[in-house]
Amino acid sequence: MLLSEFAANAELKYELSEIMRKNTLPHAIIIEGAVGTGKKTIADIIAQYCVCSSEGQRPCGICKNCIKAQNHIHPDIFYADGRESKAISVDSIRNIRSSAYIIPNEAPMKAYLLLNCDKMLAPAQNAFLKILEEPPKNVQFIMTVKSSASLLQTVRSRSRIFSLFPADVNDAVNIAVKRFPEKDISEIKNIAASCDGNIGMTLQMLENGGQEAQILAEEIFGSILLSSEYPLLRSLQRLTSDRNFAANVLDFMTDIAAECVRAAVGAEVSSKTAAAVAERYSKKRIFSISENILYARKVLNTNVNLNLFCTWLCSVLRS
Ligand SMILES: [Zn+2]
Repeated sequence: MLLSEFAANAELKYELSEIMRKNTLPHAIIIEGAVGTGKKTIADIIAQYCVCSSEGQRPCGICKNCIKAQNHIHPDIFYADGRESKAISVDSIRNIRSSAYIIPNEAPMKAYLLLNCDKMLAPAQNAFLKILEEPPKNVQFIMTVKSSASLLQTVRSRSRIFSLFPADVNDAVNIAVKRFPEKDISEIKNIAASCDGNIGMTLQMLENGGQEAQILAEEIFGSILLSSEYPLLRSLQRLTSDRNFAANVLDFMTDIAAECVRAAVGAEVSSKTAAAVAERYSKKRIFSISENILYARKVLNTNVNLNLFCTWLCSVLRS
């Protein structure tokens, strides 16, 4: 993807394109923004800029270096990823340090992408700081993080921070329509609105069941209210078919649970299911359902057996 194709964030795109045009990229960049706002996409564009061998505008998108970068096989682009519980370690930083001072293999520059730095501990950040204090020549460091506040002030002060914001719902709809031309437009609009225009989340939800997941989440909440355990178990059983689909359903359930909590404390809510749950159950019970759903979403990230997971979820939702 080229910078001009990136949705919304006009100010950031202008600033970044000016920096690229003038060739004044700061040696360390922090890209901050919520999940799904496109941090990695921007990081990839900057990395492509660094390795592009075009004499004209960079990244050109067509030179050999750009093509390799787009396919994530460029030997001068390096990734360290602190996704989930696996934070970027001191050892990873040491590896970066030992290779960063070696001249690039094929491109004019090397790019190091440190993705998801949210849980990077102080010792690793301090080790990284040592590289930033004496930056190697022709090397670009790009960090992505939900909030730059997770990083040490000393790291922040040696980097340029770019903040990403979610696109609006129309942008998310336009991108989703291109990606999923076979999907119903009303479904796409519905999902994009429920994701508040967050493009990454919209695409992920459409990929993992979309409206079907949303309907099932409503159905599960409706089943909690019934006296028999069977309908709830039967609905939950559908989560066992696919882990990503189950995660998507749980995300919708988290939203409904938040509505239930708001209804329980007297706020006006649009969800009929949430209003019905709030009317039927005590605040304590609703808070407990909400907490259990949040916990269940985390459990789903582990390698849990889906059948056992659904039986357990049924029991905690009804207890
Ligand atoms: Zn190029």
